[in-house]
Amino acid sequence: MHDSKWMTEELRLLADSARRFLERELVPHREKWEQRGVVDREAWLKTGAAGLLCTSIPEEYGGAGGTRGHDLVMREQLSRAGLAGGFGTGTGVHSTIVAHYILNYGTEEQKQRWLPGMATGEIIGAIAMTEPGAGSDLQGIRTSARRDGDSYVINGQKTFITNGQNADLIIVAAKTDTAARAHGVSLLAVEAARADGFRRGRNLDKIGMHAQDTSELFFDDVRVPLENLLGGVEGQGFTQLMVQLAWERIACAYGSLVAMERAVEMTTAYVKERTAFGKRLLDFQNTQFKLAEAKTQAVVARTFVDELIVRLLAGNLDPTTAAMAKWWVTDTGCKVIDECLQLFGGYGYMREYPISEIWTDARVQKIFAGTNEIMKLLIARTL
Ligand SMILES: Cc1cc2nc3c(=O)[nH]c(=O)nc-3n(C[C@H](O)[C@H](O)[C@H](O)COP(=O)(O)OP(=O)(O)OC[C@H]3O[C@@H](n4cnc5c(N)ncnc54)[C@H](O)[C@@H]3O)c2cc1C
Repeated sequence: MHDSKWMTEELRLLADSARRFLERELVPHREKWEQRGVVDREAWLKTGAAGLLCTSIPEEYGGAGGTRGHDLVMREQLSRAGLAGGFGTGTGVHSTIVAHYILNYGTEEQKQRWLPGMATGEIIGAIAMTEPGAGSDLQGIRTSARRDGDSYVINGQKTFITNGQNADLIIVAAKTDTAARAHGVSLLAVEAARADGFRRGRNLDKIGMHAQDTSELFFDDVRVPLENLLGGVEGQGFTQLMVQLAWERIACAYGSLVAMERAVEMTTAYVKERTAFGKRLLDFQNTQFKLAEAKTQAVVARTFVDELIVRLLAGNLDPTTAAMAKWWVTDTGCKVIDECLQLFGGYGYMREYPISEIWTDARVQKIFAGTNEIMKLLIARTL
């Protein structure tokens, strides 16, 4: 375990118990989930029973009452257990994004109704922003929510939605004013079991993150009660999304950082064992220089991200610096992991070697949680 400034004794204990739980209960099922393209519900329920979902949600709503530090520790342990490309991403969205939308913007009644079930894993959450015609340009979404009597009627289509096959509770970004851009966006909670006209599409076939269900979702005259409008005021959705996205950026940067550190560790071990031309791979100067560079980049990333986590926990991380961490760490992560894979030779391309999975899973980090180009746009606006 690293010696970051934000680490506490409590977080170390959490890391230790999470590591043991994941190794014992979840890792043995990893391959089956990768083949099926989805993690089974049993895993969610077991993790909930172990108190490892919704770790930063207050105890009064069934959570573990921790901080964002608890969420980051969980993210790290899921990654170290090789579960980042499945359960790790799914529970990250569920516990650290969707549950926080409910906590921050839901009514008291909604918090009581949904958060305890999310903490036990009985209710699985998803956030549906992206559409076939609008990803980066969120203001251009076409899904609409029309007010009709005591309900909103939702029509539209979403794609690339994490937990799309499993989700019970979906936070949908929709236009309550179709003529407006940002000011027309609102967030509505849709309970899948009660939503006539809601349909799940394909579980999409991805190049990585094989155990994660990522899906299309369809809404055809789906009615939800007026109180399912998060925050109670129309047109707040864009701002609500932006506030939460700062966290998502740091979480994404952290995931890439841990992946980079793992890659450097496993490659260092490999080049000490493998020989060519009568020497260990580590004895070639190219190997030494490549790994010296990789390790330096991982340490620089750790130093930067740790500093931002300290600011995040103190409540003063600004979104622009979070955007810098998101693009730079995910970009550097992909480069470092690629160099590491190269040092495995042909074995690096084989799925039985974890470096191959780290490499494919790393690629998406530059795309989701706001593409790296969008991060640069946000930074450029502040110049
Ligand atoms: C595995 C996975 C899981 C996901 N999970 C979710 C989820 O749970 N919920 C959800 O809502 N979405 C999710 N997404 C969607 C993801 O957030 C989007 O794919 C992402 O925001 C990019 O949108 P897009 O795919 O439409 O690309 P586009 O917006 O079409 O972008 C294509 C390219 O153009 C660039 N570009 C776009 N606009 C500009 C600009 N103004 N200046 C310069 N370059 C620009 C982009 O950076 C990118 O390189 C997921 C995606 C993946 C792959």
